[in-house]
Amino acid sequence: MKIVKTVDEVRAQVKEWRKAGLSVGLVPTMGYLHEGHQSLIKKSVEQNDRTVVSVFVNPMQFGPTEDLESYPRDLEADAKLVESTGGDLIFNPEPEEMYKDGFCSFVNMTGLPDALCGLTRPVHFKGVCTVVNKLFNIVKPDRAYFGEKDAQQLAIIMRMVKDLNMDIEIVGCPIIREADGLAKSSRNIYLTPEERKAAVILSKSVALGKKMVAEGEKDAKKIVTAMKELINSEPLATIDYVEMVDMDTMKAIDEVKGHVLCAMAVKFGKARLIDNFIETL
Ligand code: AMP
Repeated sequence: MKIVKTVDEVRAQVKEWRKAGLSVGLVPTMGYLHEGHQSLIKKSVEQNDRTVVSVFVNPMQFGPTEDLESYPRDLEADAKLVESTGGDLIFNPEPEEMYKDGFCSFVNMTGLPDALCGLTRPVHFKGVCTVVNKLFNIVKPDRAYFGEKDAQQLAIIMRMVKDLNMDIEIVGCPIIREADGLAKSSRNIYLTPEERKAAVILSKSVALGKKMVAEGEKDAKKIVTAMKELINSEPLATIDYVEMVDMDTMKAIDEVKGHVLCAMAVKFGKARLIDNFIETL
């Protein structure tokens, strides 16, 4: 397993693999890897001859008041996890390598980013689309792996690939959770012990919403209201949003039918956590 810092080094390595007729998978991450990221790497190792993991805390996807500076980083631990999972290359560029002086080209999407997380994080998805596009151009993978934990991001990347005719298969991977249900996240490190206990209310509300859907509830408002009530019963939780939308368009729905995403963002002190469930009915 190699760690490289430059675009040229990634290109040289991938060129060699391509010459040997090998397929390549890409797992884009911001590092501080956990079992959620690991499940994506595992899937890529299963489906491709070689796997590249990018570890890059992308400044472009953070707003001015967000946690860019404090975002946790531990490349040594990340390297161990990638190596033990069978990954072949970590691409860990500095921001200056990705955004050279005079950088001024962006991938901007309308519609899908104007909902859910995009409302409170207005620059986020422009940064995500731009960096993912760059990573695709640098690595030129056959497949790229994204978690359903960031469901809006997954929908946006799928749309971008379709709209811009990118010849890359996007593979969505299920949410990996802690034993008590909390979705694994690099940002869980921000939680105090009390907040960590309280944060389990997110997966409990996901379970409640799923149960209501399974029992035949079709009224999105009723489901969202019940989930919000449960979350609000936890004094340390502050809801940013809980919403049911169409998974492909991110438009709010009244009736639960088709490809549905029920997503939430909730703050616990410094940590803003997300969770969701996706249903096809
Ligand atoms: P991040 O490093 O948080 O940007 O995440 C990198 C990738 O890992 C994204 O595609 C995430 O959706 C995915 N990911 C993060 N946490 C989880 C999780 N708990 N389960 C599944 N995928 C995850």
